[in-house]
Amino acid sequence: DTIGDNLDRTVAAFGDREALVEHATGRRWTYRQLADEVNAVALGLVDLGVGKGDRVGIWAPNCAEWTFTQYATAKIGAILVNINPAYRVHELKYVLNQAGIRTLVAAPSFKTSDYAAMIDEVRGECPDLADVLLIGLEDWTSTVAIGRGGSAAHLAELQAELSADDPINIQYTSGTTGFPKGATLSHHNILNNGYFVGEMCGYTEEDRICIPVPFYHCFGMVMGNLAATSHGACMVIPASGFDPKATLETVAAERCTSLYGVPTMFIAELSEPGFEAYDLSSLRTGIMAGSPCPVEVMKQVIDRMGMAEVTIAYGMTETSPVSTQTRKDDSLDRRVSTVGRVLPHLEVKVVDPATGLTVPRGTPGELCTRGYSVMLGYWEQPDKTAEAIDRARWMHTGDLAVMDDEGYLNITGRIKDMVIRGGENVYPREIEEFLYTHPDILDAQVIGVPDERYGEELMAWIRMREGAEPLTVEAVREFCTGKLAHYKIPRYVRIVDEFPMTVTGKIRKVEMREVSVEFLG
Ligand code: ATP
Ligand code: MG
Repeated sequence: DTIGDNLDRTVAAFGDREALVEHATGRRWTYRQLADEVNAVALGLVDLGVGKGDRVGIWAPNCAEWTFTQYATAKIGAILVNINPAYRVHELKYVLNQAGIRTLVAAPSFKTSDYAAMIDEVRGECPDLADVLLIGLEDWTSTVAIGRGGSAAHLAELQAELSADDPINIQYTSGTTGFPKGATLSHHNILNNGYFVGEMCGYTEEDRICIPVPFYHCFGMVMGNLAATSHGACMVIPASGFDPKATLETVAAERCTSLYGVPTMFIAELSEPGFEAYDLSSLRTGIMAGSPCPVEVMKQVIDRMGMAEVTIAYGMTETSPVSTQTRKDDSLDRRVSTVGRVLPHLEVKVVDPATGLTVPRGTPGELCTRGYSVMLGYWEQPDKTAEAIDRARWMHTGDLAVMDDEGYLNITGRIKDMVIRGGENVYPREIEEFLYTHPDILDAQVIGVPDERYGEELMAWIRMREGAEPLTVEAVREFCTGKLAHYKIPRYVRIVDEFPMTVTGKIRKVEMREVSVEFLG
């Protein structure tokens, strides 16, 4: 199946059920109404001359038009290029040219960014860019209006010519460890992944999924939208950008059964003033993913948010994204402390990064994944593709993992974040988990900073709970003494209000290291 075929099937089965809700604006669509919008956008794009393989950029925060464009491009075989909502002119120009975008669908503005002005500024230097459709404005509305009058039979013909293995999406990685890379994905890659993620969550047409994570990223558009549409569930958009209060309000008002977030989002929701007043009783499940999920936060999500069946997923953009996920019948201990087992029809292995040989269970090594979810490659970067995917089609994730005897995985960190202090391998994750157990600490991140004597030394960045006194270095070290091996105790401590983050809500340790090196002089 292609994504378009799959959507048609859901529309036939659940046409009158709610498909999509924008809580902030009150706009809502049933599956039949969603299909009408999708088909209108698809035929509107065809009228502009967009065809199979052409790149259509989408630059907007979460909104219904994002979703319409996602399915419209898939129906006509155009390649959707997700553009980071945080981009500025320089990056915008890069992506427009790198992906050879022909048609750009964009919000006129977002927060303090004037997208329309930025597009005007770079347009002259982007030779492939033929059309710009600003959502809600003249060019967009007239294109959609033309599409509405188009021929459904013509659309069905175009759809019938597509293959599930065609590329239909270029998705950029989060840029946590460097410059984002454009993963090229097929219908087959992401539709299957969305479907199986939905299976792990036990979705049916009764589910209402609250999606505060960006559509720009696979967490929103695959684990959110595709998991929903392949099961007839409803997609609920709380607000255009992430806002903990709006998210809690939306869950309560829309009676959502599932909620998504990276750990920092759940931390923000749990510490939102007046948290106890929101009626979250409709929540059954959800997904925490994207970065290490602290056991303590998972426990609170289960106990205080009532998400009894919440799952942890692990994945990366290059693998559509999910490779492993916990299931509701796993033991509670595993559901809060592991990333679960491999998804059906995928393979995972843990190898010694130096030799490439599989290591024994219980030994840390680099996680590799293989199967239907592995991307076609990085868009026009064959060298980077060859570095990431080996000749046997294994994707080398760059993540360190340990697999137990029953196949449950623990992600111990990224190879790039591992700290080597005086010859000892230190996994920051372990220290972060320990720091979370301090009652005054809201969030903690540990990095390695250069040190003459030990090669690297540990530094903790700590966010205090509201009203708590900032901890001193001595207090933190004392808290760790006797509980952590001496070489794992942070030498430096910095109390901060925020961590540097990507749009997808991940903490940029690269940036933390740069700032810290400057800070230490
Ligand atoms: P870049 O590749 O540009 O540096 P990125 O790797 O953060 O950015 P994504 O593809 O969004 O870009 O994220 C995938 C990474 O997120 C994984 O490789 C892993 O390091 C991390 N990750 C995802 N889920 C989990 C999880 N459940 N636990 C721990 N880490 C996770
Ligand atoms: Mg990555």
